[in-house]
Amino acid sequence: MSAKDISRNQTRAVRVGDQTIGAGHPILVQSMCATHTTDLEATCRQIDALSTAGAGIVRLAVDSRRDAEAAIEIADRVQAHICIDLQENWRLAEILAPHVAKIRYNPGHLHHHEKKVPWQEKVQRIADWANAGDIALRIGVNCGSVDPLQKEKWPEDDAISPLVASALEHSEYLDSIGFERYVVSLKDSDPNIVVEANRRFAEQRPEIPLHLGVTEAGLPPDGVIKTRIAFEQLISRGIGDTLRVSLTLPNDEKDQEITEGQKIIDDVYAGRVRSVVHYEAEGPNIISCPSCSRVENGDFVQLAQQVKELSKAYQEHSLTIAVMGCRVNGPGETDDADLGLWCAPSFVNLKRGEESLGAFPYDEILPRLKTEIEDLIQKRSSL
Ligand code: SF4
Repeated sequence: MSAKDISRNQTRAVRVGDQTIGAGHPILVQSMCATHTTDLEATCRQIDALSTAGAGIVRLAVDSRRDAEAAIEIADRVQAHICIDLQENWRLAEILAPHVAKIRYNPGHLHHHEKKVPWQEKVQRIADWANAGDIALRIGVNCGSVDPLQKEKWPEDDAISPLVASALEHSEYLDSIGFERYVVSLKDSDPNIVVEANRRFAEQRPEIPLHLGVTEAGLPPDGVIKTRIAFEQLISRGIGDTLRVSLTLPNDEKDQEITEGQKIIDDVYAGRVRSVVHYEAEGPNIISCPSCSRVENGDFVQLAQQVKELSKAYQEHSLTIAVMGCRVNGPGETDDADLGLWCAPSFVNLKRGEESLGAFPYDEILPRLKTEIEDLIQKRSSL
């Protein structure tokens, strides 16, 4: 396969600062800071490292007014194109829009604050602020925080339809109010779901630029492999205008997200693909979030590494263990795992599927996890 063989979807051009996503422009590789947004020095340093590695956009998490004020100062200090990752606090978009290049909102998170205000009104306001600030938006749909109204319309075991329906609904709404400067992402930690959700969305709205990502892909090299599996299938079909490789990495190695992303693109275009790969391998599957400023304890990355080490003793068993860095996405995004851990400042919450097994100090969690793994294996073998 050569570059000539890939016919990219004819997507709209979405301008982000002086760069363009879509309309045949090279696939833009981006990343997100894992430092605390309020730590100006560390965040600016990480932005510089990511930019030097080739990041076209760098995203910052903003949950509070303090984060927003810090993000504004950072955006004014650095050269990079800053995208803001909004959570529930959608009104912060107003003060951020004049200073940044793009804002990502999550349709699922628009249902938490000011519940009586319809989501359409919130999106209208966000779009107005984006217009006034001359910036782009991303509709960022995520498996762990799907719009509850969409979720209830589909069977419980259908993980793909609510993701696609939510992304389509918000795209139609933004179009209907005349706002077209947006991209869409549909993320899951399972590369097969990412492929299917993006394929279905692109089939129905081939003109909307897509931001590709496998969320909580985990530690390298497994996280890179998982992401590669999804990206190969999508990029080779002409789907994807920008992407992020989400990896669990220490802060000073975060630029690997950029180098790995670029490498995957280069490999697909050079025909160095492992096409028709099915991600159904036996053995433990460790899902871990890439960490961001919301991480509640710096030991999270080390814990993810320790869980991976521990899981090596169970190669014969198909086990999914999720390790998440915070309470924002941790509780929801561990629901589908066999065992889930999400980190609080001084303890780790342990779950079996959706059931909570309690909170344990950092130095007690691994033996407890081991017991739970063995229990699970034992129960499965007696079925
Ligand atoms: S789980 Fe929390 S810490 Fe991890 S990437 Fe998601 S928001 Fe950030």
